Amino acid sequence: MASLWTFDCIVSLLVVASFGSAGRSPKCHNDAMAPTLLLVFAHPDDETFLAGGTACKYSAEGVTVVLATATGGEAGKAGDPPLCTREELPALRETELRRAAALVGIAELALLGYRDRDLAAAPPDRIREQLVTLIRRCRPAVVVTFDPNGANLHPDHIAISRFASDAVTAAADPRWLPGSGPPHDVGRLAWVPGRRPWQLAREDDMAAHPGVDFVIDVSAWRDRKAAALRAHGTQHQSAERNFFSQPDCDRLLGVELFRQAIGPRLIRRPLDDLFDGLG
Ligand SMILES: [Zn+2]
Repeated sequence: MASLWTFDCIVSLLVVASFGSAGRSPKCHNDAMAPTLLLVFAHPDDETFLAGGTACKYSAEGVTVVLATATGGEAGKAGDPPLCTREELPALRETELRRAAALVGIAELALLGYRDRDLAAAPPDRIREQLVTLIRRCRPAVVVTFDPNGANLHPDHIAISRFASDAVTAAADPRWLPGSGPPHDVGRLAWVPGRRPWQLAREDDMAAHPGVDFVIDVSAWRDRKAAALRAHGTQHQSAERNFFSQPDCDRLLGVELFRQAIGPRLIRRPLDDLFDGLG
């Protein structure tokens, strides 16, 4: 699938699954009948922890869900006891990511090829070209990434928020990268709302919390999200700590939260659909 790309910045592109949309091309040649949701995250597993249920829900509704993962997760944990050596970790994490992506209905995965904990030093021109080219080809109605504080202040999370925001605005302007496809206006840029959003999900008044602009009910998909979390086997300690060991695990797995960054004025807060108001 790498031959789809007309430049050599994208390190790897692969179609991982066609899910809930039998007969529809998994390639993100967008059309009016098949809107696209693009997730832009830093590490293998970010997508599942933060938006795995959302990917399931929209994929099942016919949305083409595309994931860009910026790093290989080389600096992450390898499990306890370790599931592999440090040298083997990038390959294992890619395998885990592919499995998880397939489970949550991600139709296309773009691996941007940067090193874990080094994303902030990525050349802005290079990553802009990667993301603008992806956006102009897939033409997403909605893009989701970290908030500008990176949810937990992780420097890679902050960096990908910066790069995604840069690319969303550049993709709409034909003066940027004229060889990277026709301009595209993303309808909405949404952020994960801040620190450990799944903990917000246990609060009875979460809808009153600033930053909670979208509450997505993914309770129908909690088993699928749990399976995707388990697919990231090297990260089992985080999954146990944040979800599976919690007495209200079912509740935590059943809702995902987002904040509006760019988009049409919200008629109320929170809404229950990331595509609300996009026509
Ligand atoms: Zn991360």
